[in-house]
Amino acid sequence: MKITEIGEFEFIKRIAQKFKVLPENLIGIGDDCAVIECDKDNCMLVTTDMLIEDVHFIKNKISAFDLGKKAVAVNISDIAAMGGKPHSAFISLGIPPETNVEWLDTFYNGMANILENYNLFLLGGDTTKSHEKLVINIGIIGYVEKRFLKLRSGARIGDAICVTGYLGDSGAGLKLLIQDKESYDPDETYLIERHNCPNPHVTEGVWLAQYAEVNSMMDISDGIDSDIKRIMEMSSCGAEIYLDKLPLSQSFVKICEKYGWDKYELAATGGEDYCLLVTINSENYDIIANEFQKKFSNPLTKIGKVLDSKSSFSYYLNNKKINLKSIGYDHFLIK
Ligand code: ADP
Ligand code: MG
Repeated sequence: MKITEIGEFEFIKRIAQKFKVLPENLIGIGDDCAVIECDKDNCMLVTTDMLIEDVHFIKNKISAFDLGKKAVAVNISDIAAMGGKPHSAFISLGIPPETNVEWLDTFYNGMANILENYNLFLLGGDTTKSHEKLVINIGIIGYVEKRFLKLRSGARIGDAICVTGYLGDSGAGLKLLIQDKESYDPDETYLIERHNCPNPHVTEGVWLAQYAEVNSMMDISDGIDSDIKRIMEMSSCGAEIYLDKLPLSQSFVKICEKYGWDKYELAATGGEDYCLLVTINSENYDIIANEFQKKFSNPLTKIGKVLDSKSSFSYYLNNKKINLKSIGYDHFLIK
């Protein structure tokens, strides 16, 4: 059997069964980070993510500096997803022999820049040769007070499903980048920037985590279509999403119209938004969303509702149930 027949997520489930059951003070496979209890009040968070040339990035479509920043940012985003603060990083590279050292210097300047901005320490890594493609693996360690830790598994029936930022900008940016155009208008430039320079929602995650009524949280890396299903799986629940409620930037809407792209489809499946997907007790949504708007000058947008485990997953557009043509990102399942 080929891995394309089961996909990334079935594969992870399959291999997870081979290892011994974890004690209560550890959380392993299945969330954005692993959680290690440090003492009765505090937890350490550990996450690792890999970026491979021509799978996650195309070297001539992103500057070395931005790639360095992005590789770290997508990992920091997983710490934000648990309500934590990042502390330190490990950087491992598989480098093709013909790689230019000046390019690597700039790439490391990008990583140093984001580490500095988030006050992170570099603690180590590994360097090896790779035959053809650049391979980047980043590991980040973070901390969270146990009472603020948020998991994918905490969603409750009736919760409001919310997001902390625009959806689809990054997916549209990627579509533009692979068009190979000579120049881009300001809206296109904005979307490409959103793809190349994601901004992990650490402050938003820490702020949301202080509310006991925030029941579950994760970051959006594969698109809500895929990511909401991770919450459903871990929380044993169903969900409905209202496509007409998805927060879309003006540039995104304009560019979707310009190229005839289905904006809802792209916003739900595009991926790499790196904002947060949270479920909040619906009675407390209004008050938390109000405070969020005051604090961040951005909306905490309600896009759906958590349903019981017997309900499946549905999309609605203007109160009518609809299906999307494609699915959220999976490394092995064909879109
Ligand atoms: P994220 O997109 O938030 O980084 P992933 O979907 O990559 O999360 O991973 C989901 C979970 O599966 C995480 O707990 C991750 O540590 C675990 N995981 C992914 N790949 C492997 C693997 N090859 N072996 C063990 N655990 C894995
Ligand atoms: Mg994640």
